[in-house]
Amino acid sequence: MPVSSRETVALARCLHYHPQEVRHGLQKVMQPFGGIETLVKPGQKVLLKPNLLSAAPPAEAVTTHPLVLKVMTELIHEAGGKVFIGDSPGSDSQEKAHQVCGVQEVVQETGAEPLFFSKVNYKKVRGYRLWNIPLAAELDQMDIIINMAKLKTHSLTGMTAAVKNVYGCVPGKTKGRYHFEYPLPADFSRLLIDVYLAVKPAFSIIDAVIAMEGAGPRGGKPRQLGLLMASCNAVALDNVAASVIGFRSEHVSTLSVAGELKLSGSDLSAITVRGLQLEDCRVSDFDKGPASKGSLGRLVALFPVARLRNIIINRRPYPRIDSDLCNGCGVCYENCPAQVINFIGSIPDINFDGCIRCYCCQEFCSKSAIKLTKTK
Ligand code: SF4
Ligand code: SF4
Repeated sequence: MPVSSRETVALARCLHYHPQEVRHGLQKVMQPFGGIETLVKPGQKVLLKPNLLSAAPPAEAVTTHPLVLKVMTELIHEAGGKVFIGDSPGSDSQEKAHQVCGVQEVVQETGAEPLFFSKVNYKKVRGYRLWNIPLAAELDQMDIIINMAKLKTHSLTGMTAAVKNVYGCVPGKTKGRYHFEYPLPADFSRLLIDVYLAVKPAFSIIDAVIAMEGAGPRGGKPRQLGLLMASCNAVALDNVAASVIGFRSEHVSTLSVAGELKLSGSDLSAITVRGLQLEDCRVSDFDKGPASKGSLGRLVALFPVARLRNIIINRRPYPRIDSDLCNGCGVCYENCPAQVINFIGSIPDINFDGCIRCYCCQEFCSKSAIKLTKTK
C-alpha cells in the first residue's frame, strides 16, 4: 500500500446517506491507502463485516447503514472482487437482522451474498494471553475481511467502533457466556483485543455519518457527525474516532488495554491523520452516556484482588427497568448471561445479588426500557 505507516487514519466528510456522497466519501477515505484496487484484487472473496447488533431499522443508528454497505459492495465489485456480508447479532437471528437492518435489500440490489455464521473454528492467538478463540468457520473461506463498523457509545467499554465490531465474528451465544466470564470492562476488553488480533481485518471503515450518543449501543440517540473514517489499523482508527467524540483514549477500555499491550495505534500522538484535520472534526458536546470509565478498568488491572474487584463491580451503575416503556418482550430475560432476570407478571424483575453489570439487557432492549442508575 502507498502509505507505509500502519498508523494512518483517513477522515472524509459525508453529511448524508446519499449514494453520490457516500461513494465520494468512501473513495476519499481509501485514497491514502491506494484506493479499492490496492485493497481488493480481481477474483478475491471479500467479507464485509457490518455492525448488526440487533434487528433495528437503519434510522435508529444502531447498525452500519445499508447504503454504506451497498456503495462499498459496488466499489468492490467494480474492482473485480466478490462480496459477502455477514455478522452474528447478539440477540436476534442473522436472517431477521439482515431483513430489518437493510442488508437483504443490499444483497438483492448488488448481487452480494449473505454469509450466515453457523460453524466454529478455533484460532490460536497470542494477544493478552495465548489461547484458542472460537470464530465463525466461514471466515476461513474469505480472502479479505473488511470491518464496517458504526460509531456509538457503549455502557461497558465507553465506545464501540472498529475493534469491538470484530466481536461479532464470535458466533452465537458464546458472546453472552464471555460477558459472564469477563464482567469488568478491562477483562472484557482484553478478550475483545484478542478477538481483534485473531480476526485481523485487512481494512476497517467507521460509519459516523450518523453516530449514536447517550445510552448506546442500542438505546442512545442518533447524532449527525457527517464523517466516514478508515484505516488498516482498527486500534488507530478507534483512537481517532474516540478523540472526535471527546473521549480520552484511557476512558475507552479497548484502547486502554491496547495501550497496556503497546499495540500499534494506541498512541494518538503517533497517528497520521489524512483527509481532514482531526481538530476540524472534533465535537465538544457529544453525549458520551453513562459509560464506565477506563480508569476503573485500569485499577482492577493493578489490583487483581477478588475483594477489590467486587467493590469495583458494586460501584458500577445498576440496570433499572422502566415499566412504562417495557413491552414485556422477554429479550432481556433470554440474554442475561447471569440469569438473574425473572418475570413478575408481564414486567421483568432483576435480582441484583447476582447481577454482574454486563449491561447485555440494556444493549438488547429495543424499547430503551433499561436505564443505568447509581442506585438499585
Ligand atoms: S425491559 Fe426491554 S427487553 Fe426486557 S422485557 Fe422489557 S422491553 Fe423487553
Ligand atoms: S441483569 Fe442485565 S446487567 Fe445484570 S447480569 Fe443480567 S444482563 Fe447483565
